[in-house]
Amino acid sequence: MTFRTRFAPSPTGPLHLGHAYSAKRAYDMAAAADGEFLLRIEDIDQGRARPEWEAQIYDDLAWLGLSWPQPVMRQSERRAAYDLVLDSLWSLGCLYPCSCRRSDISAVLSAPQEGVATLGPDGLIYPGTCRSAKNLRSSSRPRTDVVLRLDFQAALERISPQTPVDEQVFSFIETGAGPKGETACISFTGQDVISSVGDIVIARRNMGTSYHLAVVVDDAAQKISHVVRGADLFEATKIHVVLQRLLNLPTPHYHHHRLIRDNNNKRLAKRDDARAISQFRAEGMEPKEIYSLLDDCNLNLK
Ligand code: GLU
Repeated sequence: MTFRTRFAPSPTGPLHLGHAYSAKRAYDMAAAADGEFLLRIEDIDQGRARPEWEAQIYDDLAWLGLSWPQPVMRQSERRAAYDLVLDSLWSLGCLYPCSCRRSDISAVLSAPQEGVATLGPDGLIYPGTCRSAKNLRSSSRPRTDVVLRLDFQAALERISPQTPVDEQVFSFIETGAGPKGETACISFTGQDVISSVGDIVIARRNMGTSYHLAVVVDDAAQKISHVVRGADLFEATKIHVVLQRLLNLPTPHYHHHRLIRDNNNKRLAKRDDARAISQFRAEGMEPKEIYSLLDDCNLNLK
């Protein structure tokens, strides 16, 4: 199997030093293994994605010395692939529509049961309010303007009908490290994922998918063998592994890397325009200077 990595930015702002680090890491790992490095544009959020940010991504990555095969996969053009998967999950009884607003969810969670977490790595843990109306679902999937959630319990029962969720074991190979240094073979149970993330959103309103669904479907479609990305996505990988099992898709190896942080130890975000690659370029910096900045673990940014 070809060693294949990818860099999957969202064109919702300028690439910053953290993106440069991640892209270069994926690029170098593929090169070292005589493999392939792909670029994928994650633009499902059409309300925030902008063509000018996408153009800037191509420009910045080329300036950094990276190259990738054409055509580039763009998630906004993948609606048909996501529809197929959503139809099949709907007919398996693994999805339900959710009409809760964020404020409804917060209100229910404001009276948490003792010992039950309300906030997980995917945000607020959905209390399952709309799940009870699941039996009233129409036979065909509602198409637009509706949020679809994964009935996690039903999904796990689908994966392994005879095994209780706390005995269902999932695993993936980590060749980098998670935020607490987790590495090698990472195992967890179905119950661990249910308790830490709850019924996740699988299709966001008017988007026809969610990050979790799209990333799993597209990593498989692009035959990615090694997913290289920041350690902030380590916990999300558990969701992805369960979805891969549910959809009969292969689980790639994962390589989570350290995050680039600013002087206050805060991870860089898109709004940190001052750390944008384009800004460094405008100031006359060379790519090799960017890379030597990134090599320094105690990144000291002005
Ligand atoms: N589009 C995601 C981001 O920009 C990438 C997630 C991933 O690499 O799986 O954070």
